[in-house]
Order: sequence, then C-alpha cells, then structure tokens
Amino acid sequence: MASKSLASCIFCKIIKGEIPSLKLIETDLSFSFLDIGPLSKGHALVIPKYHAEKLHELPDEYLAEAMPIAKKLALAIGAPDYNILQNNGKNAHQVVPHVHFHVIPKPSESSESG
Ligand code: 5GP
Ligand code: ZN
Repeated sequence: MASKSLASCIFCKIIKGEIPSLKLIETDLSFSFLDIGPLSKGHALVIPKYHAEKLHELPDEYLAEAMPIAKKLALAIGAPDYNILQNNGKNAHQVVPHVHFHVIPKPSESSESG
C-alpha cells in the first residue's frame, strides 16, 4: 500500500506523532489508539497509515489487516460485548474524514451503574 498523507488531516497528524494519542497497536499498515471522546471505557479507533476518506478507497490488503486488529483490541479490552462501527460520509455521521473503525466496548448495565 503506497503511503499517502494529508497535511490538514488530524488522523494523519496522529500517525506522524504531530498530535499526541494513546497508541495501542501499530503495524506497517495500521495505527490504533484510544478515542479522545470515548463512548465507553476502552473505545478505540483503528486507522490505515494511508490517507483515504472512505472505506471503498482502501485496498483490500488493508481491509484484510483491519479486522484482525479490531479483534485483538476487543479481546485486549476484555469487554465480552462490543460494537465495531465504521462511518462513511457526513450523512453517515463521519466527522473525521480519514477512514476509521471504532471498537466500542458495551459494558453490562450493572458495571455501567456500578
Ligand atoms: P466519526 O464520527 O468520524 O466516525 O468518529 C470520529 C472519532 O474520532 C470520534 O469518536 C472522536 O471522538 C474521535 N476523535 C476526533 N479527534 C480526535 C483526536 O484528536 N484524537 C483522538 N484520539 N480521537 C479523536
Ligand atoms: Zn488522513
């Protein structure tokens, strides 16, 4: 996958270390880190180290890489229930225009209230 970065993109800046992040797993193609506005404890993001806005712009090579990383994060976070979420475009609630997969733990109601 050829490297491509967009100077104005906050996720490209995170990959380059120009914006700090709490890094989780990094590979040649991929970077993952904790979400700054977590929907639950451990909410993580997986992104390609290649600027692309939407899923269909990514090579299959990256798609084959992203899900095993999301799986590792879900296991490491230790939440038995979780959502994998991926938004494409403003009408689909994408705010940051650099493809990302959310890994969102869904704690049981008892652990949320306790
Ligand atoms: P979207 O709505 O585009 O699918 O989700 C974007 C996500 O990126 C949001 O959950 C938001 O909290 C997260 N986010 C936005 N800016 C930053 C940042 O600078 N650092 C981190 N770690 N997460 C960010
Ligand atoms: Zn980018």
